[in-house]
Amino acid sequence: MEKRKVIIIGSGPAGLTAAIYAARADLKPLVFEGSEPGGQLMGTTDIENFPGFPDGIMGPKLMQDMRSQAQKFGTETVMKKITKVDFSDHENLNLWAGDDEYSAESVIIATGASAKWLKLEKGEEKYWGKGYTACATCDGAFFRNRIVGVVGGGDSACEEAMFLTRFASKVYMIVRRDEFRASKPMQKRVFENEKIEVLWNKSVVELNGETLLSSVDLIDRVTEEVSNLELNGLFMAIGHHPNTEIFSDFVDLEPNKYLSVSDNTKTKIPSVFVAGDCSDWRYRQAITAAGYGCMAALDVEKYLDSLEG
Ligand SMILES: Cc1cc2nc3c(=O)[nH]c(=O)nc-3n(C[C@H](O)[C@H](O)[C@H](O)COP(=O)(O)OP(=O)(O)OC[C@H]3O[C@@H](n4cnc5c(N)ncnc54)[C@H](O)[C@@H]3O)c2cc1C
Repeated sequence: MEKRKVIIIGSGPAGLTAAIYAARADLKPLVFEGSEPGGQLMGTTDIENFPGFPDGIMGPKLMQDMRSQAQKFGTETVMKKITKVDFSDHENLNLWAGDDEYSAESVIIATGASAKWLKLEKGEEKYWGKGYTACATCDGAFFRNRIVGVVGGGDSACEEAMFLTRFASKVYMIVRRDEFRASKPMQKRVFENEKIEVLWNKSVVELNGETLLSSVDLIDRVTEEVSNLELNGLFMAIGHHPNTEIFSDFVDLEPNKYLSVSDNTKTKIPSVFVAGDCSDWRYRQAITAAGYGCMAALDVEKYLDSLEG
């Protein structure tokens, strides 16, 4: 089994940017693309906030270009998911994709985080990126003078709703209970905003529309009455799930299950580094993930140099 200088787990903006830097440093990185090659942006349409594209760029196109750029400098990509790791020997890190075993001197974890969905029986994949989304910062501007809904009752849901009032003509907050989980000052801001209407005790049971989302069916959790709400966008704000379980025996996780880092990209294992949304629950943007990918690759370079020195 060939021992790699660096293995990168994940092929979103963080993993592929790390690959570009590592490949240009002649480290011949091996990237595991996982079950979502290209990462979260593959499910989106226009990206208008990634620098360098004044007319915007489609998410899948941006990711294909990042992948080509990484491959051009010598990155090897494999469409496999890492299912197990053993990082107990810091100088000989072992990884498995099913029965296939790999080893490396260093690893960059860039496995991202997935937005939690409603878990409806049908419809969520059909409308994902077509009105059904999970990022107000990313997609809010597409809903200028439109009606949108935000699902959730925590601080993030309130923040997303407040942000969306900059664009939307009306913002419904769809809340499962009869109260918010959000902090009192945040609640006050929501109640004072004339564009926001809170729908208490409601859950979304169905998404409707031709190609684009145009309405949702809601069930009242007290009366069990079902009603239809017309809207153009539905923003999920019930949290994210970081893809970090397989690492938990070896590196520290925060209480919210994101990877714990020190000094930007470092874990408690000197040869294991972290990049992107799997450790960043605050910014969650393609450009920040790419930036972390760059930093992780530069830190890997320094670490490998230190072994030789
Ligand atoms: C609907 C939507 C719209 C968005 N729009 C924008 C936008 O307009 N602008 C913007 O800046 N950001 C946007 N974002 C946010 C942006 O997509 C993320 O911040 C960014 O993709 C995070 O990059 P990442 O590389 O850290 O993780 P991800 O993109 O989540 O990639 C994670 C990668 O890890 C892989 N992986 C996971 N587990 C394993 C494993 N065990 N083995 C191997 N591989 C694994 C996955 O297959 C995937 O390739 C949007 C997000 C969503 C959901």
